[in-house]
Amino acid sequence: MKSIETDWDVIVVGSGLGGLTAATRMATSGLRVLVLEQHVYAGGYAHHFLRKVKGTKIVYDFDVALHQTGDLLPGRSMHKNLQKLGVLERLRLRQFDIAYRTIGPDFDHEIPAKADDYEALLCSAYPDAAKGIRDLFATLRAIDQPGEGGGPSPEAFASMGQSLQQFLDAHVSDVRVQTIFSTLWGYLGLVPSQMSAFMYARMWLSYHAGGCFYPEGGGQALSDAFVDVIEANGGKVLLRAEVVKIETEAGRIVGVETRKQGRFRAPAVVSNAAAPLTFHQLLDQGDLASADVEHADALPISCSIHQAYVGIKGDAVKLGLADRSAFYVRSYDFDEELRALEVGDYARQGWMVGNHTLADPGHVPEGRSVLHAALMADGRLWEGLDEVTYRERKAELENFLIDRLEERIPDVRDRIEICETGTPHTMQRYSMNPLGAIYGYANTPTSHSIHRPQPRTTVPGLYLAGAWTFPGAGFTGAMMSGWNTAGLVFEDVEGRKP
Ligand SMILES: Cc1cc2nc3c(=O)[nH]c(=O)nc-3n(C[C@H](O)[C@H](O)[C@H](O)COP(=O)(O)OP(=O)(O)OC[C@H]3O[C@@H](n4cnc5c(N)ncnc54)[C@H](O)[C@@H]3O)c2cc1C
Repeated sequence: MKSIETDWDVIVVGSGLGGLTAATRMATSGLRVLVLEQHVYAGGYAHHFLRKVKGTKIVYDFDVALHQTGDLLPGRSMHKNLQKLGVLERLRLRQFDIAYRTIGPDFDHEIPAKADDYEALLCSAYPDAAKGIRDLFATLRAIDQPGEGGGPSPEAFASMGQSLQQFLDAHVSDVRVQTIFSTLWGYLGLVPSQMSAFMYARMWLSYHAGGCFYPEGGGQALSDAFVDVIEANGGKVLLRAEVVKIETEAGRIVGVETRKQGRFRAPAVVSNAAAPLTFHQLLDQGDLASADVEHADALPISCSIHQAYVGIKGDAVKLGLADRSAFYVRSYDFDEELRALEVGDYARQGWMVGNHTLADPGHVPEGRSVLHAALMADGRLWEGLDEVTYRERKAELENFLIDRLEERIPDVRDRIEICETGTPHTMQRYSMNPLGAIYGYANTPTSHSIHRPQPRTTVPGLYLAGAWTFPGAGFTGAMMSGWNTAGLVFEDVEGRKP
C-alpha cells in the first residue's frame, strides 16, 4: 500500500454523512483533508452490507439505514449543496409520489409526498377537521420560508420551544389527524409529547416540500460519491483506521493517533464520532473541553432501532407486500407506546415493514425481493448482556419481526434466503455511537439543533459534525451539519468565507 502522508490541513474522524460532507466541502474549497474511518466501508449508517446465499452465486445487497431522504428537489437546500460539491452529478436519484403508507386502528392511507396532495387527502377524509388541517399546513409552509435577514421565520421561532403535541393541539384537535400527521415520529425517535415541534416540522418539510428520494445503490452510493469527490480533490479516505486519541499541545489541536496506522498531524480536527466519545475518550485532555462536556452530558441520548434485513425468493409485490414503507400505528396513545419501548414490550409498540425492492429494484437478485421490518428501540435494554442472553433476545426479536412480515406474506418463512437482524448493540458495534443511538442526542424541545454542543468547540482546532451537533440527525440533518461545520473550519483556517 502507498504510504499516506502524515501532515494535513484538516483531519476528519469518522466517515458518516456529517464527516463526509464536511470533508468534501473543505476539500473542494482547497484544504488538504484526511478522513479516518474505523469500519471497512465509508458512510457510517449510510453504508451497505453484502450476504451470499450459501452454495450459490446469489448476493443480496442490504442498505443499513436509508428508506428515503428529502430536500433534493431543484432549489431545495440539499440539492443546491450536493450540486455545488459535485456529488449530485454522481448519483441517479429515484423520486417517489407516495411517501409511505400509514395503517392505524381505524385508518389506512397512502400519504402523498406533495404537501398539497397530502392536505387535500386529509381534508377529504376528515372534513370536520378541514379548517384545522388547512391551518396546520399553512403554518408548516410558513416555517419553510426564511424570515427577515434569511434567518428562521416567526412561525419557525414559535415552534422552537414547543413539543409536537403542543404544536398540533394549537392547530387541529382531531386525534386521528394528529396521529396520522405524527406517523413519522420514528424518523426522529421521539413520541409527539416529547418531540421538538421545530425538528419534526423541518424533517416533515424536507420530505413533503423537498421530495422523497432514494439514490440508486442506496446510502452506500451516496457515501461513495462523497469519497470520489474528496479523493479527486487531493484528499484521502482511509478505512480500517480507528482514531484512539485526538491530540493537543499547549491547549490546541495538533493531530490524532490511530490504533494501527500511527499518528497524523493537522491543526484542525473535525470529529464525526459521537460527541460523548469525542469528549470523554478521544480528546487527550478532556478538561480542555469542560464547558462543552458539562453541556453535552446534560442532554438525553436518542433512541436506537431493531431492524430485520430479509432476502426472499419471489416477487414480494405479487406475494402481498406492495408497500415501499408501511407504518403500523398500534393505538392513538403514543405515550403508552413510549412506555412499551422503554421496557422492550414489542407487542405494545407500532412497527414498520417495507418492500425495499421498490426503492432500489436494480440492486436485488433476479426473482427475489429485499424486505425490512423495524421497531424503535431503547439502547439501554441491550447493554451489558452476556452472550447467551443476547442471542436469546436477538432470536426472540427476529421472530417477532418476521411475524410482522408474515402478516403480509403468509409463507415468508419458507421463502427466506438471508435474514440478518440488527439490535442497538449491532448499531453501536458498527458506528461506535453510544447505546446504538441513531439520531445523536434526542430531539426534545430543549436538546434539538441550537441546544446541542456547538460545532466549533471551546478547544481551538476541534470541531464536531454529524447527528450529535447542530442542526441534527437523519441523512439531511447530518449532511447539513457537515456543510455548516466545513464553513466554520475554513473561516478559522483561511481567515475568510469558503
Ligand atoms: C436502521 C436505520 C434506519 C435509518 N433510516 C433513515 C432514513 O430513512 N432517512 C434518514 O434521513 N435517516 C435515517 N437514519 C438515520 C441516519 O442514518 C443517521 O442519523 C445519519 O446517517 C448519522 O450520520 P452521522 O454523520 O451522525 O454519522 P454516523 O452514521 O453515526 O457515523 C459515524 C462514523 O464515525 C465512525 N467513527 C466513530 N468513532 C470513530 C473513531 N474513533 N475512529 C474512526 N472512525 C470512527 C463510525 O465508524 C461511523 O462510520 C436511519 C438510521 C438507521 C440506523
